Amino acid sequence: MPRASEATIIDGRAIAAGLRESVAQRVSELRSSGRPVRLDALIIGGNGAGEVYAANQARTCGKLGIDYQLHVLGPDTSQAQMLDAIEQRNTDGACTGVMVHLPLPDALDTIAVQSSIAVHKDVEGVNPANIGGVIYGQRTLVPCTAAAVMHLIESTGVDLQGANVVVVGASDIVGKPVAVLAMQAEATVVSTNIHTDDLEGHCRQADVLIAAAGVPGLITDAHVRPGAIVIDVGINRVVDQETGVERTVGDVDFDAVKSIAGHVSPVPGGVGPVTVAMLLRNTLEAAARV
Ligand code: NAD
Repeated sequence: MPRASEATIIDGRAIAAGLRESVAQRVSELRSSGRPVRLDALIIGGNGAGEVYAANQARTCGKLGIDYQLHVLGPDTSQAQMLDAIEQRNTDGACTGVMVHLPLPDALDTIAVQSSIAVHKDVEGVNPANIGGVIYGQRTLVPCTAAAVMHLIESTGVDLQGANVVVVGASDIVGKPVAVLAMQAEATVVSTNIHTDDLEGHCRQADVLIAAAGVPGLITDAHVRPGAIVIDVGINRVVDQETGVERTVGDVDFDAVKSIAGHVSPVPGGVGPVTVAMLLRNTLEAAARV
């Protein structure tokens, strides 16, 4: 049943801008006491989208006072060469954060590569030790998208303790860490996946519904309890049937859901920009802990 008023739109761009401002302030404090703040990113050359992303990253880091070094490796880089390139960053005292742009070529073992990043420099939170820290509730470098989801939920002012949280999608990098973080906040958490029976029924129980399946339009108004908080993590490229133009949509049928939810995050302009800001925040945290 639609509500009398429409959902509050969670403005990820504004929230990300606030995060960047506070990161810039703290970076400037660290630097004025002579401490290095430098993010080193490794990328295999020929990854067009990754290179555009890296160029944006370099620009954003520059604005925040974070030094940025991009290391472009050849497409034939072996596993041993990749691990060696990471080890050089791990042992470089001027480098405080390390990340690897995905995807890697099939010949490289992504998990082994991520596991080789020094735990205290792992700004994407992809080293299993940092993921394990999430389980133990330690102050760890949390995977950026999961941290962004939690930040957007917090921005609504909801108390997660005792709240029903349903997470749609259970990937290692998004769904599972989000579910664990919600458990840490003492919510009652249901983790769903492609095999879940009666997804709609589960979702309708949610005070907070997180969609992270990668299926455009999966979550409709029928999945949403009136007044619920809906966070859309999905990033899907679809072709508009009427115009033939390609555009980015989430997993949530935004127009239908905004008439029933209490809060909803849009795509684009929701989780995405906050995820990028969380990488910068993790970069600051890693530098501050050295
Ligand atoms: P994934 O493919 O690794 O995992 C998808 C999960 O969703 C699986 O657990 C699968 O079982 C489940 N699922 C798939 N179809 C389902 C269905 N019909 N019903 C219920 N569950 C279903 O995906 P991922 O890497 O976690 O990414 C999920 C989405 O989030 C993608 O659209 C991706 O582009 C997006 N994403 C966004 C950000 C961001 O910063 N906003 C970051 C990472 C991923």
